[in-house]
Amino acid sequence: MKNGPIKIRWIFYLAFVLAVAVLILIFYPHPGRWKITKVIDGDSIVLQNGDIVRFVGIDTPEEGEPFFWEAVKANQELLKNGKIALEYDLERKDTWGRTLAYVWVDSLLLNAELIKRGLAWVYTHPPNLKHRDYFCALQRQARKEKVGIWSIPIPEREQYYIGNKHSFRFHRPDCKYALQMAERNKIIFKTRDEALDSCFSPCRYCEP
Ligand SMILES: [Zn+2]
Repeated sequence: MKNGPIKIRWIFYLAFVLAVAVLILIFYPHPGRWKITKVIDGDSIVLQNGDIVRFVGIDTPEEGEPFFWEAVKANQELLKNGKIALEYDLERKDTWGRTLAYVWVDSLLLNAELIKRGLAWVYTHPPNLKHRDYFCALQRQARKEKVGIWSIPIPEREQYYIGNKHSFRFHRPDCKYALQMAERNKIIFKTRDEALDSCFSPCRYCEP
């Protein structure tokens, strides 16, 4: 076998290249992987580098509102290994300088998991609409099952509601944001369910 030694040399080369590749994968800091140090509330956390991450596409109850602590506890439980990967939408920062991200814990998308458990509702801001359809489908299911926030009694009803086709919010008819809305953006919903079925989010100000 004339080419025997050449073959062995190639096997050595190959093994060497593979070993280097494995070492790089192990020790090179992966740009998409982060360590977290604190859960602030249902939809924000602090990274080891001090950055605050706001979960994009959702909103969770504020302190004092029902299911606030359930959302915090869900985050603490799901984030207990302290390591996440971040996926971005078109905008990486909000107006307060927080990082906007989809937060992955292994193969689980935290933003989606919170919607699924009824601990968050879909709350998108254009142009960040990457997973909107998926989130809307999960929310429909959560509403059907009446889990979490969807088990809370419905707030005082209105004759109709005004939605904003641009921002995907809906309001009570006398809300200041409904009154100042451009006509071209307006859509009327006869019921709150109709607005929610269309995946419009309740306004944080008039709380329809
Ligand atoms: Zn409003």
